Amino acid sequence: MTGKTHASCGLLVGALTTQYFHTDLFSSVTVIVLSVISSLLPDICHTQSKIGRKFKILSFLIRLLFGHRTFTHSLLFIGIIGFLLHIIEAPIYYEVAIIIGLISHVILDMVTPKGVKLLYPLPITIKTPLNFKTGGLVDLSLATALTVGAIYVFFQSEVNDIIHHWGYIFTQY
Ligand SMILES: [Zn+2]
Repeated sequence: MTGKTHASCGLLVGALTTQYFHTDLFSSVTVIVLSVISSLLPDICHTQSKIGRKFKILSFLIRLLFGHRTFTHSLLFIGIIGFLLHIIEAPIYYEVAIIIGLISHVILDMVTPKGVKLLYPLPITIKTPLNFKTGGLVDLSLATALTVGAIYVFFQSEVNDIIHHWGYIFTQY
């Protein structure tokens, strides 16, 4: 999937995490930044990806060591990041935002014909039986749907407030 699709999925993960944990404004902004970054992070192995272009040398080294869509798209990688977050005793909502952000990336890549090496270092490619080309219509529609979903989650309480407010006014007359 394209960086845009991954990032919009990260946005949705962030929005849901802030809703679930009722985080304050500062934590909410941090949660969203972290979930968007982690939804893009696995593509650090790809020098031309959004995140790879930002960290060229690191990206080049990871690609050289592991190849594309291997280590950084595996359960092992997610496990190591989870372990590190646990060691530094990161707040639970940061941990959730990062881990789910990473998982969302791997799942989205499993829906493409290339698949991922989920069980790295085992050289097995995992992909869903039904898969869609990166940059295709499904990819683009998914990016839009995920963004709309994220915006809805962000403004859910405001939307409900407005509905309640107008409902109240109408019942008065
Ligand atoms: Zn990827």
